[in-house]
Amino acid sequence: MDDDSRLAIHQVTFLPQWSFRESIEGLARHGVTCTAIWRDKLHEIGVGEGAMILADHGMKVTGLSVGGLATSPDPRAWQAAVDDTRRAIEEASRIGADHVVMLSGGLEAGSKDVSGARQRALEAVGRVVPDARASGVKLGLEPLHPMLCEKRAVLCTLKQANEWCELLDDDPAVGIVVDTYAVWWDPALEEEIAKAGPRICAFHVNDWLSDTRDLRLDRGMMGDGVIDIPWIRRAIERSGYWGPCEVEIFSERDWWRRDPDEVVRVIKERTRTHV
Ligand code: ZN
Repeated sequence: MDDDSRLAIHQVTFLPQWSFRESIEGLARHGVTCTAIWRDKLHEIGVGEGAMILADHGMKVTGLSVGGLATSPDPRAWQAAVDDTRRAIEEASRIGADHVVMLSGGLEAGSKDVSGARQRALEAVGRVVPDARASGVKLGLEPLHPMLCEKRAVLCTLKQANEWCELLDDDPAVGIVVDTYAVWWDPALEEEIAKAGPRICAFHVNDWLSDTRDLRLDRGMMGDGVIDIPWIRRAIERSGYWGPCEVEIFSERDWWRRDPDEVVRVIKERTRTHV
């Protein structure tokens, strides 16, 4: 991708190295003007202070991660997840984020009821749509790779995300987050991206390493793995999305151990050559 102005970097890419403030200052120092926010980091510093730091650096915010995670069959636990998502929407609004990244959640320990979990997750999204609409914050449904179905997301294909949008009457407050790591394997990818069209509210980029050791925390730098990222980007652009390309790398064994200034430099190079 040759348009540097579309580059966004999620602050989780420097999770152990940089504090909230350091990540915003660091990105600004490298000329990156758009980021995504990790709620734990925001809570460490406080929402008011976080909003001020973002504003002081003219930093745009795509998503706030995460809301949702409402699959529990226990009504109290389910309600607590819905309430937490409401707080996430309010926080997103205060920091000027475009959307809350909504993960559906996985299976409760001991449960085998995948379809019930899906139903409850979808119902939770429907429950907070009015809050999102009132705050002007979108709910970005992010399917994860099916290998994470049990742990993190019973919403695991783009087709399912499109179906959920339809079931929610295509409310403009509900969008879809496409993450290369989650969708690259899908034989229906091109077709489902085209179908998603204006629903797409974010595009997350990172690579799938051929010797992946951890399904959540071993994501690769663009160009180091097997995903044809430019192909996916072009499919997304054909569907009408020209927003930020957001680098999001959870990498316990590699990038989280490096000097974060070096990480940003590599991301900028690889975005030009491999996104
Ligand atoms: Zn993502």
